[in-house]
Amino acid sequence: MSTKIEPRGEQRPQRATPWEYAPAPESKDIVSIRDRYGLFIDGEFVPAKSGKYFETINPSNEDVLAEVAEAGPEDVGLAVTAAGKAFEKSWGDLPGKERAKYLYRIARALQERSREFAVLETIDGGKPIKESRDVDLPLAAAHFFYYAGWADKLEYAFPDRVARPLGVAGQVIPWNFPLLMAAWKLAPALATGNTSVLKPAETTPLTALLLAEVFQEVDLPPGVVNVLTGAGGTGAALVEHPGVSKIAFTGSTDVGKRIRRAVAGTGKHLTLELGGKAANIVFEDAPIDQAIEGIVNGIYFNQGHVCCAGSRLLVQESVFEPILEKLKERLQTLRVGDPLDKNTDVGAINSKQQLEKIEELVESGIEEGAEIYQPECHLPERGFWFRPTLFTGVSQSHRIAREEIFGPVLSILTFRTPEEALEKANNTPYGLSAGVWTEKGSRILWMTERLRAGVVWANTFNRFDPSSPFGGYKESGFGREGGLHGLEPYLELVDRNGGRR
Ligand code: NDP
Repeated sequence: MSTKIEPRGEQRPQRATPWEYAPAPESKDIVSIRDRYGLFIDGEFVPAKSGKYFETINPSNEDVLAEVAEAGPEDVGLAVTAAGKAFEKSWGDLPGKERAKYLYRIARALQERSREFAVLETIDGGKPIKESRDVDLPLAAAHFFYYAGWADKLEYAFPDRVARPLGVAGQVIPWNFPLLMAAWKLAPALATGNTSVLKPAETTPLTALLLAEVFQEVDLPPGVVNVLTGAGGTGAALVEHPGVSKIAFTGSTDVGKRIRRAVAGTGKHLTLELGGKAANIVFEDAPIDQAIEGIVNGIYFNQGHVCCAGSRLLVQESVFEPILEKLKERLQTLRVGDPLDKNTDVGAINSKQQLEKIEELVESGIEEGAEIYQPECHLPERGFWFRPTLFTGVSQSHRIAREEIFGPVLSILTFRTPEEALEKANNTPYGLSAGVWTEKGSRILWMTERLRAGVVWANTFNRFDPSSPFGGYKESGFGREGGLHGLEPYLELVDRNGGRR
């Protein structure tokens, strides 16, 4: 299915490259997908007690890839019991240096099988192979390497305190970075001595299931990680299970609020990494060509399915015209299409449901009076597609300036002074990330001190590193993932003289 919204906008520049790229498809042969997957509980793939299965499809052509088990409450109970037993019997008391060995093995296996994982991620989720190959896989392996390094150094990480694991972590992850989010959740949990029940998103379960095969390959003790595929109901049952001590969730703000209500009063530890509507702020003294690349990377990377995407571009009025012109020119060069083609920049939208959400918000932008621009590009007949899009004439009250679109859609606003930029940037219920482009270090510092965002990038965007904490303010959630800070949500820290923190 292709989007109903045809390319629109005036003053379309000529295509910047007068030639076409030859197709460069990555082979699918390296991946073998089973017809049907069970649940991964206590170290084994087992049929679902629920008896239910659902299909996972390739969003770039709507082909059915496999049937996947849908875990019901009984399955959740079995997985939590297995994780609890593993915590008591094998993992919780294992010395840190022994836990580290397993994490190193997982990291190395991910590197060895990285092409297989990257192809599978792209087939199941629609993201371009060059992103799954060059971003998702290296970062996922890096997270396991990084937290392996901390596993036997917790007493140095938290001097004068005893660090104790919490028990079973229920970890619910989204579909935009399926393997990477699994790594963000599992690596710190395992390094600190917790066990896990992981719930991948309904539309992207396959790399988490392949990761479960890696756990078997590296002889991870049974029950240390359990993978329960399913939809929202499975996630809700996991969150509510009394045997879970900690919930770590990444996803929408709405579901985050529901989870917070479900957990209130239970004593369960909770971290939420939710939505965003980041401001990417370009001052007139910015290096313009680099800023254009940062803007494009900020919003069109992974089809804009990025919680920290730079979806609101704030441009200083004096450079608005040249930036807009260069941006339109750059959009013409983005190659949209087959995610397995190594030249593709923008792949398929993850699901029909997400495409409909993007279309609805884009229509609202047009109705509210903003001006749309989309480059000409051929979209495949089958699958879910949306052209890279930008809006000018956007005002703060427009839905496209306030709501998370989670698609390749940029809303451009202008400002005159740093104070105005700051006020507009902070005028959002979210607070996950922001970008500042200027050649003045003092201005970067002035802005970063005042921006209410968990991460602020200066003269770059969408940079991730396992040693750097990531997380939000306000409706973007709380708790940090990555770095030393990412260990804390999985630990009870007790003062050596008895007090808890
Ligand atoms: P959700 O928040 O619904 O999904 C995230 C995860 O939570 C999935 O594994 C989902 O399962 C699960 N889940 C759904 N309902 C519950 C529940 N009641 N209790 C526990 N777990 C639950 O995101 P959507 O896929 O619906 O996306 C909607 C919007 O959320 C997007 O358009 C985007 O704006 C935003 N989003 C933000 C993300 C971020 O990283 N901040 C990531 C993904 C989405 P399942 O998908 O299997 O139903």
